[in-house]
Amino acid sequence: MNVLVVGGAGYIGSHMVRLLEQTGHQPVVLDNLSTGFAESVRQTKSYIGAMDDRKLVEQILREHQIEAVMHYAACALVGESVVDPAKYYQNNVVATLQLLEAMRACDVRKLVFSSTCATYGVPAKVPIDEQEKQEPVNPYGFTKLVIEKALADYSAAYGFGYATLRYFNASGASPAGDIGEDHDPETHLIPLVLQVALGQRSHITVFGDDWPTPDRTCIRDYIHVDDLATAHLAALQRLEHGTEIKLNLGTGVGNSVREVIEACRDVTGCDIPEQMGSRRAGDPPELVADSSRAQRELNWIPKYNDIREIVRTAWKWHQAHPHGYRKS
Ligand code: UDP
Repeated sequence: MNVLVVGGAGYIGSHMVRLLEQTGHQPVVLDNLSTGFAESVRQTKSYIGAMDDRKLVEQILREHQIEAVMHYAACALVGESVVDPAKYYQNNVVATLQLLEAMRACDVRKLVFSSTCATYGVPAKVPIDEQEKQEPVNPYGFTKLVIEKALADYSAAYGFGYATLRYFNASGASPAGDIGEDHDPETHLIPLVLQVALGQRSHITVFGDDWPTPDRTCIRDYIHVDDLATAHLAALQRLEHGTEIKLNLGTGVGNSVREVIEACRDVTGCDIPEQMGSRRAGDPPELVADSSRAQRELNWIPKYNDIREIVRTAWKWHQAHPHGYRKS
């Protein structure tokens, strides 16, 4: 299949591009390189540009006879979305609607959309299944939910076939160690802890140890980025016009902040100092997926179900690229 991967030079997008290539598909990347890196998709036909550039997107869709679009180009930091919601509504909603319009103009009606567990807000029960009410508690979650709703309407009215995949904590790196996570500023737990192991930070701050969890730190469902990619591919292959797929992607296993830090100590062999900090605004205590429906409907099983294995792949990437793509 000829697939346009919007945001294909980013962390999750670049792993998707690699899997598409490995499985005989023809990905084409569109990325504005605001957070992505051209180096992560060196071998792939790529365009630098904006997804709301109708002329450019329509030209790519036609020229490459694109059959489906995978959309990863989002602003995705909860805290930033609270401080600067305009950026989130502009990029995640307005620009995404322009992308959908370009698709409609070119009669491309299959889309795999990156959504998030942030659309559930603070869940009434854990693990979270797809029946859970979607009541986001921050602008990031709202912007993703707006597009989920738009896609349902586009499907009914225009025959779009779409998959909206709500993922939990994307983590790890390609086992080859040549592509991985690189954010500036870095805010995610695993890369921050590994930066301490590399001697780039003095300690990791734990955001609160007064949560209602067994070790009193927050619990998240860390899913390997390649497992996300295999689920996306399975969803892509199931899309027909009018198909609606809405699934959670996680491992079903939760790990606390303390467990993640301990796993990083085990894998790196480094003594990783930690300091206790206060809670981070907007953090729910526990987010774990019930992804049994995804496993059933996509015939998909996450390969990585041990946090140490996930950290091992991330550690390989960070050791080989201690300053990310910039100074590799
Ligand atoms: N966290 C932490 N210290 C940090 C960064 C994150 O204790 O320096 C915690 C955070 O409160 C959350 C978990 O680690 O409970 C995962 O945070 P991350 O930012 O990686 O992902 P999020 O769950 O926000 O998407």
